[in-house]
Amino acid sequence: MPARTGTRLDPWFSSYAERAHGMRASEIRALFAVASRPEVVSLAGGMPNISGLPMDFLADMSARLLRDRGQEALQYGSGQGEVEMREHIVEVMRYDGVHAHPDDVVVTTGSQQALDLVTEIFIDPGDVVVAEAPSYVGALGVFRAYQADVVHVPMDGDGLIPDALDRTLTALKAAGRRVKMLYTVPNFHNPAGVSMAEERRPQVVEICRRHGVLILEDNPYGLLGFSGDPLPSLKSFDADGVVYLGSFSKTFAPGYRVGWAAAPHAVREKLVLASEAAILSPSRLSQLSISAYLAGYDWYGQVKQFRGEYETRRDAMMSALDEYLPELSWTVPEGGFYTWVTLPPGLDAQAMLPRAVTNLVAYVSGTAFYADGTGHDHMRLSFCYPTPERIREGVRRLAGVIRSEAEL
Ligand code: PMP
Repeated sequence: MPARTGTRLDPWFSSYAERAHGMRASEIRALFAVASRPEVVSLAGGMPNISGLPMDFLADMSARLLRDRGQEALQYGSGQGEVEMREHIVEVMRYDGVHAHPDDVVVTTGSQQALDLVTEIFIDPGDVVVAEAPSYVGALGVFRAYQADVVHVPMDGDGLIPDALDRTLTALKAAGRRVKMLYTVPNFHNPAGVSMAEERRPQVVEICRRHGVLILEDNPYGLLGFSGDPLPSLKSFDADGVVYLGSFSKTFAPGYRVGWAAAPHAVREKLVLASEAAILSPSRLSQLSISAYLAGYDWYGQVKQFRGEYETRRDAMMSALDEYLPELSWTVPEGGFYTWVTLPPGLDAQAMLPRAVTNLVAYVSGTAFYADGTGHDHMRLSFCYPTPERIREGVRRLAGVIRSEAEL
């Protein structure tokens, strides 16, 4: 049962549902406020850098959409999502090696809503969700809201470790626990910055199938690899055992708030019912806008441009870490937005954060990414948003803070 949090000065304290007592502001929320101060170099948030988007094209496209199809775009729509949007999503997924039918797809308000819907339809209080150590903070918040117990499984430089997964699932079963799903971000992991090795993917799928555990494959960064082709999705090994989540937030723009779930037929039915209960239908304006962009613009060329920009920023962060903090270790991401830094013994990322902010640099403490309160010895650094010069300056400031705390 979650700890009861809140204040007794709140007259409704004793009226809240049990699950509301487990809800707390994520460490990220406070950081967004800090990061918006211009003098702070924020290596904290995961905001995509959308400055390269073709704003004039989008402005004309939006005007045309409203003029030509305004009656449709501004009306309620299908709970599952517009057919034309789902057809485009199927094409986009093909670039990621996922083969699905438009009927399999449920359009959601960002993949965050898909995380919420999947959790809602599968999790009773006390059920177990197995997740990588560390895991995306926003998923942990959803699991907590539905009173799941999260059990972490270790990763290494090649992602989730299959043997450790197998052992964990066996032990949980022996202890009589109900394990409902594995949550995994196989590509360019948030926050760990690693990808699941190709040979591990079928192993992970086989282990989950053997234990009767659904896989929730969250893949918002898959198309943002800096080189090579995307690795095969987990869903490509077992379409019925995997719910796959995708998003336009990182490959296009998060402001439209469009993501999706591709799910086995029966699961898809439940997801649509749950989504209709929550929001009636996802934004039709957003879906028709994204459909027009995908149909009328070289969207894949734009994705390639994003890749180039993020790779330049990754390089800037790697060389700044090499230069200013050579004693530390960190992951070298081949795509996505994040690197995961291991601190020297004795340093506590959470305790150090206020001092870092005083020194005008922000990061996310590793503790945000563990359900069990560990992670003090890690921090997540994002290279997606600041310019390469600002990244360098941020790492220089961070090194100053770390050096004043530890004998390096
Ligand atoms: N999953 C992961 C791993 C993420 O990093 C994010 C956003 N930071 C999301 C899901 C949610 O993204 P959105 O709702 O914008 O699609």
